[in-house]
Amino acid sequence: KQRVRPVLHSIDPYQAGLTDDEIVQRFGGKAVLKLNANENPLGPSPKALQAIADELGQLHHYPDGSSSYLRDAIAQYHGCEKDAVLVGNGSDEIIRLLSETFLSPDDEVIVTFPSFSQYRAGALLMGAKVVTVPLEAESFRFDPERLLEAVNPRTKLLYVCSPNNPSGTVLEKNQLEELVKRLPPQVIVIWDAAYDEYSMSPHRAVWSQDLLETGRWIVLHTFSKLYGLAGLRVGYALGSPDIWQYAHRIREPFNVNRLAQRAAAAALYDEEHRQKSLQLVRKGKQQYERLGQAGYTLVPSDANFILVRVGNGRQVAEKLMSEGVLVRFGFGLSEYIRISIGLANENEQCVEALLRLALQGE
Ligand code: PMP
Repeated sequence: KQRVRPVLHSIDPYQAGLTDDEIVQRFGGKAVLKLNANENPLGPSPKALQAIADELGQLHHYPDGSSSYLRDAIAQYHGCEKDAVLVGNGSDEIIRLLSETFLSPDDEVIVTFPSFSQYRAGALLMGAKVVTVPLEAESFRFDPERLLEAVNPRTKLLYVCSPNNPSGTVLEKNQLEELVKRLPPQVIVIWDAAYDEYSMSPHRAVWSQDLLETGRWIVLHTFSKLYGLAGLRVGYALGSPDIWQYAHRIREPFNVNRLAQRAAAAALYDEEHRQKSLQLVRKGKQQYERLGQAGYTLVPSDANFILVRVGNGRQVAEKLMSEGVLVRFGFGLSEYIRISIGLANENEQCVEALLRLALQGE
């Protein structure tokens, strides 16, 4: 214990909810509703599944270490150059890689509260200091003034997750403009856009080629959410090729496996599946509006999940779990649960369970 790096004592293990084994132990053969990981309930695109089947005969060969085919597909999709694309074993790996690329001990990293836990873990791992800036209370809106106030000469990275996990709120267009205008040049901004495709807010900030060309803005995407490929682990970042040349020196040589490369590229080209998945979430979110009349407060969400104020988050999540409905709680928000949008009948089941709890006065 004493031999491990002291900083590891301050990093919490990632809380992923129940493991598959625990689900079997707890629920036996009974069906559970997995509304806790923001996955796509429709599963992957049939084109991705076909691509995986086509690739199976090649598994004795290493993958293409440069993920060339997939990077081509991503570059085409976003209209950027291929060298601006970095792919990883999930965006989790890219967050780790960005920490290793940029951070030295005593550098500072700004993260919002609440937000995705891995920004903090990556920063602590490198001995950097994490500066936490709260989103606005209750509304969970971003506050660019507070973010800018937190910047000092040691600030190296600023993470903006928009739409934000777990609040579902977005950075707005004018807020982005403020940050672009006023952040000092030493700050690299990492915009985690894991849920960006779901966003429909007309006020939301939109990624642009201009941001890419600043050389200081990086955007992260994942195939784990809309594309339904969480189990394959593949994510990507768009950023300056000048940065990526260093990231390539330290990334694992074959960081994205063969099946993931092929399936992700195929998924990207399946517009029909993407639209179907987006529609499902848009409709599904409306089912939760009934909760508002039962005394729950819903945070307006631009993502495929909703943060709901329920009173005692842990207790409500546990009661739901006893009915086989898995949701997330935690994030340092004791009064809330986060529900991922599922299939229509799953949403219905979750809403009904919450309405019953409200009647019981939970
Ligand atoms: N960023 C955010 C905001 C997330 O919610 C998640 C998944 N929980 C990730 C990154 C990691 O995604 P991946 O599966 O690509 O590692």
